[in-house]
Amino acid sequence: MSTDTTSAARPTEGHLVRAVNVMKYFGHNEVLKGVDLTVDKGEVVCLLGPSGSGKTTFLRLINQMETLTGGRIWVGGELIGIEERGGKLHVRHDKDIARQRSRIGMVFQRFNLFPHMTALENVVEAPTKVKKVSKAQAQADAMQLLEMVGLKDRASFYPAQLSGGQQQRVAIARALAMKPELMLFDEPTSALDPELVGEVLNVMRDLAKNGTTMIVVTHEMGFAREVADRVVFMDAGVVVEEGAPNDVLLNPQHERTKTFLNRVK
Ligand code: ADP
Repeated sequence: MSTDTTSAARPTEGHLVRAVNVMKYFGHNEVLKGVDLTVDKGEVVCLLGPSGSGKTTFLRLINQMETLTGGRIWVGGELIGIEERGGKLHVRHDKDIARQRSRIGMVFQRFNLFPHMTALENVVEAPTKVKKVSKAQAQADAMQLLEMVGLKDRASFYPAQLSGGQQQRVAIARALAMKPELMLFDEPTSALDPELVGEVLNVMRDLAKNGTTMIVVTHEMGFAREVADRVVFMDAGVVVEEGAPNDVLLNPQHERTKTFLNRVK
């Protein structure tokens, strides 16, 4: 990890997420080559780009499931993963990293529910275990969330008894149960049968309407166009272009964006 302190001293400029010159290597494979991105509170940003361009890696870095090779990311005004003490940068303690991660909800391509727990138990787990919320309170909150995702009547079902779309909606409720400041979605509908995609996108559309800050990796161009405040097109580890959905999707400026959009149409 670089020990350069100059970028650590930069303010976050009021953005909820600010990523500056983010780099990531896996061995010799340079996956992210200096990504800059900001996301404001309440904003919905869709990340688009061909497979292998580094979108998932970028989300995983924000959520500290991977460590940065270079650059800085601030979430909610705090540098993630590292902190400045006595003029030097230090790797944060595990407890600190856990606290930072608890401010972020993440929904994956695969639903990743605990298979031996009911929908309700899945949603209740983190608030009671991590945040020490009382069981009664956590259950009441969880029922509200399950209602919001349209699954109140499935609270006592196990994941195997639910469709893929229902499981993904439980996964969204589970992530929301920690009252995150930021939601990350990594291709949340790409593992679903086509007829189940809509129900998950509808829940995400509702979240966006309610002011949830979201970064969504998706190939759902209709969703991006309708719901995103901004779309960011990535290719080969860099941000190629970004802007309002109608500008980027209908009038892309770069060849690489045009080629990609022609392919996914
Ligand atoms: P995208 O989400 O745009 O499809 P990814 O971030 O998943 O792209 O992957 C970008 C590149 O990083 C790919 O070449 C992938 O093989 C590589 N990569 C991702 N995760 C790992 C890992 N844990 N170890 C090694 N290489 C990885």
